[in-house]
Amino acid sequence: MKDDYQSSIAASMRRLRRVMAAKPNHIGAHQHSSSHRKELLASDVCGCFYCLEIYSPAEVTEWVDEDDEGIGRTALCAKCGIDSVIGSSSGYPMNRKFLKEMHDYWF
Ligand SMILES: [Zn+2]
Repeated sequence: MKDDYQSSIAASMRRLRRVMAAKPNHIGAHQHSSSHRKELLASDVCGCFYCLEIYSPAEVTEWVDEDDEGIGRTALCAKCGIDSVIGSSSGYPMNRKFLKEMHDYWF
C-alpha cells in the first residue's frame, strides 16, 4: 500500500509540474515578438498586438535590435511602429481575438 501511495503522489507532482510549466498562449507568444527576423520573414501573415492589424511580413520595413552585421532582428510594426509584431510561423493564431488578448495583457 505504501508504494501505491507514493507512486500516486509522484504522479500528482508530475501533473502539477506540467500545469505550472504550461503558459497561456497570449503570454508564451510574447517571446516571438523579438529577435524573430527569420521566423517573421518565413510567415504568411503577421499581426501586431499593439494596433491589432494583420498584414504581410513583406510590409515590415523597420527593424531594430541589430546584430553584429547591423541587421535588425526585431520588427517594428508597419502600421504603428511598435515592436509588437508576431508572425504566423510562430504557431500562434493570427487573428484579432488573439492579438487583443495579448494587447490586454501586455499593454
Ligand atoms: Zn501595430
